Amino acid sequence: MSFRLANVHGRAALVDGDHYHDIAATSTAPERTIGPDPMDAIAHCAALHELAGRLGDLEPTGALADVTLGPPVPRPRNSFGIGLNYRAHAEESGRDLPPNPVVFAKYPSCIAGPTAEVELRSNAADYEAELVVVIGTAGRDIAAADAWDHVAGVTCGQDISDRKVQFAAEPPHFGLGKSRDGYGPIGPVLVSPDALADRDALAITCDVNGERRQDGNTSDLIFDVPALIEYISGILTLAPGDLIFTGTPEGVGAAQGKFLTPGDVITTTIDGVGTMTNTCR
Ligand code: ZN
Repeated sequence: MSFRLANVHGRAALVDGDHYHDIAATSTAPERTIGPDPMDAIAHCAALHELAGRLGDLEPTGALADVTLGPPVPRPRNSFGIGLNYRAHAEESGRDLPPNPVVFAKYPSCIAGPTAEVELRSNAADYEAELVVVIGTAGRDIAAADAWDHVAGVTCGQDISDRKVQFAAEPPHFGLGKSRDGYGPIGPVLVSPDALADRDALAITCDVNGERRQDGNTSDLIFDVPALIEYISGILTLAPGDLIFTGTPEGVGAAQGKFLTPGDVITTTIDGVGTMTNTCR
């Protein structure tokens, strides 16, 4: 059974419609006890699938409308970003198509919740709507054909980028430019891949103050999810909770001279996954 995992006040919860079930309070049988930490839940995907199938028989803990969700993956061990991974975005950035994935560190300290405010620290902060992949099963040298078996689920992400910082050095330091505090909001929930009609073709949009800025589809990824997992795991071991921000489609502010300003509302939607709303201040 597919599942939707949320972080409710730091505790792992499974979402069922408008309600949520606190996992640690629900999974009482010793053989399937999952701790309250969302990081622990992500490392026990099989148990989440099993528990999700029984939610209909259980009393929910509360209503989603009454809580503020945190990032579904609050403390990833590693977090990767992929640059120039959509053809049209590479073109608008004035760069050639990369022969291999362009991988940078999106430092885990930047991870924030799906309604977290984005603190602008320069006049060159930019949005980047992205599909974020969450590893569920550790592995090294994972073949592309097996890659989805290592994925706990996917979620929406914003690879908020301070272009001033990013291009303050040459070669650019992507890692720092995309890792200011709070510049990695993710959510609202982690959705297991089997919940998606086509996990390799997900519509993704980004609106700023209701204006559509990005309108893409993950079927246009130059290096798709299996290719990224094969490439990165060929270099280092991927572990449960590790994140991959898979790259952004065309329409970023830098290409249009439209940077984020205080009060801007960034709305990120991935079909079948959910919508995340972050306000700039
Ligand atoms: Zn990006």
